[in-house]
Amino acid sequence: MKMLYPSFAPPARWRSALQGKLLENPAWRQLRRKILDRDDCTCNYCGYRSEKFQIVDHIDGNPENNAENNLQVVCQMCNLIKHAGQGCVIVGIVDLYKKSKFTQNEIIRIARDMRDCGASDERIIMRIGLEETARFRQDLDYLKGLYGFVTSRPSQDRNDMYSKWVEYHKLHNSRTNMDRHQARLMEQNEQEDFTKSPCLMRGF
Ligand SMILES: [Zn+2]
Repeated sequence: MKMLYPSFAPPARWRSALQGKLLENPAWRQLRRKILDRDDCTCNYCGYRSEKFQIVDHIDGNPENNAENNLQVVCQMCNLIKHAGQGCVIVGIVDLYKKSKFTQNEIIRIARDMRDCGASDERIIMRIGLEETARFRQDLDYLKGLYGFVTSRPSQDRNDMYSKWVEYHKLHNSRTNMDRHQARLMEQNEQEDFTKSPCLMRGF
C-alpha cells in the first residue's frame, strides 16, 4: 500500500473545466476502465474495493498527464484526504488533526469500519486518538504532518460524488454484512442471534 498524507492539487485545477471535458472524452473513459481493471477497482491507499464511485486519480495532480504510471485507483474517502483542499474547503467534511495513534491509511480503514457499524464520529476520533485540530493551509510540508478525518457531516454539495458513494456504500455494505452474517449462521447451524453481528465481533 502507498502511504497517504493530506495534500492538495493547485486550486486552479479544482473542478476545472478541463477536467470536466476530459471526463466526457471517450478515450479517457476507455483509459479509466483499463486502470480500474488493472487495479481491480481497489484503492491504492486503503484497499477498499468498490465497483462504483472509485476515482482514477492523477498521481502528480496534473489532469493532463494520462500516462498509465501516473494513474491509480483511489476511493472516495482517500481522495478527500489526498485532495484535502477539496475535502476541507469545498466539500467541508474533512477535519485535520495534529496527533493520531494510527497512520493516515489506517485512519481511513478504521473510520469506515466503525461508521459501518454505527459508531459516532466522537467514538471513532477517540479510538484513533485524534487530537488538536488544525486548519487547512496550502502547504504540502505542513499538511504532511497532519492527519485527515472524513467526518459524517453532510457534504456542502449534496450532488458531489462523495455523497453519492456514501449512499451506495450504505446499501452495498449492509447487504454484504448480512450475507456474511447469514453464512456464519449457516455454518454454526444455530438460531439467529443479533448480538453476534460482525460489528460486535470486531469489537466496535
Ligand atoms: Zn481508500
